[in-house]
Amino acid sequence: VDTTVVIVGAGPTGLTLANMLQHNDIPCVVLERRSREFVENRHRAGIVDARVRRMYQDWGLADVLGGPPDDGILEFRVDGEAHLVDHATLSGGQYGWLCPQQVLVRGLIARFLAGGGDLRFETADVTPHELTGDRVRVTGTDPSGVTTTFTAPYLAGCDGTRGASRASLPAGAVATYTFDHEVSWLTILATAPPPPHPLLAVSEHGYAAQFYRGPKASRYYLQCRPEDEPADWPAERVWPQLRMRLGDDALPDGPITEIGRVDMRSEVCEPMSYGRLFLAGDAAHVMTPMGGKGMNLAVLDAETLAVAISAAVRDGDESGLRAYSATCLERAWRYQEFSRWMLEMLHDAGDASRVGPFRRRLARTRLAALFTDSTAARVFGEMMAGAS
Ligand code: FAD
Repeated sequence: VDTTVVIVGAGPTGLTLANMLQHNDIPCVVLERRSREFVENRHRAGIVDARVRRMYQDWGLADVLGGPPDDGILEFRVDGEAHLVDHATLSGGQYGWLCPQQVLVRGLIARFLAGGGDLRFETADVTPHELTGDRVRVTGTDPSGVTTTFTAPYLAGCDGTRGASRASLPAGAVATYTFDHEVSWLTILATAPPPPHPLLAVSEHGYAAQFYRGPKASRYYLQCRPEDEPADWPAERVWPQLRMRLGDDALPDGPITEIGRVDMRSEVCEPMSYGRLFLAGDAAHVMTPMGGKGMNLAVLDAETLAVAISAAVRDGDESGLRAYSATCLERAWRYQEFSRWMLEMLHDAGDASRVGPFRRRLARTRLAALFTDSTAARVFGEMMAGAS
């Protein structure tokens, strides 16, 4: 199969890129290892920030966003006391969307297929070859065992950290910067009323958070020990801890539908391209969930790549492709810095046994500035809206 862009991975990044290329009449094929049902039900992120909402609108893709608008208010609950930060107003009236990742993925799949897009689920053994020639070659095997070769001038590696794209790079082609934040969370999905605003809670008992995941669904995060397993946290332990850390004795519970553990780690690959391969999204950088920027950053890569490929294909102008890695990396490091700043602040401000009383006081001072210092609050508001 001969095409213009082979996209590996049908997560938010690959699907956003595919829709943008389709919008610009540039042929592409998307190869995804998992089934449609699996990718449409993978629960992860939940907030599309203001910048990304505008991006989908600009590309005529506003209808891929489901869920209600985000009113742009974030609640920090410190030792049970509520502090509301109106980041929409602080950023000049910009607001995002409370759109669970699986809802965005469903919307992007439906749009791409309705436009006649070529999206192949359950493609096994995807293997890129000849990354530095005139055309890249990618092989993949369909569920009936038939192997197809795809050729194209451009390959977009949108298949996450452990995908085939990163694995196809020769040793030394990219440098990988990693950081372990030494913090772990339980991630809990439950059929329980969502909070009126995204809620981040700090207390001596450890960090906890609650987010909207549907009219009757909440996502909770609960700081835990790195050695804890989800099985150590039955419902009888989860709900009292949430009530204590959120400072809400009346917090309604409900059936827990999913529980897992995520270790906070960050990763950035430099550069984000090699020959005809362009890495995008989690394939190039992993953020912690703190600050809600991972998916937003990922789909901004997709837009930068869509614009660059379009200019190369339509006008023979490859300058955007040459600048692709540097443009995306500058943004990736800014987002990493924001996420780390927030993670350090909200964890250090809690349990003093983790960092000692001095760092705890520093973190509490940093946090208090968001409620008392308009400059600090505005910078925070603009990062929440999505930096340019
Ligand atoms: P992925 O979503 O990982 O998609 C990659 C796709 O490639 C997958 O469909 C995969 O099946 C496919 N694939 C992999 N290998 C192959 C292969 N060999 N061949 C073919 N296909 C392959 N971000 C936020 O913005 N806000 C949040 O609140 C937030 N919370 C999070 C909470 C958790 C618990 C986690 C884990 C992540 C969170 N994130 C959040 C991050 C966000 O989910 C990711 O940044 C986002 O999924 C990245 O999208 P992607 O398309 O680049 O990668």
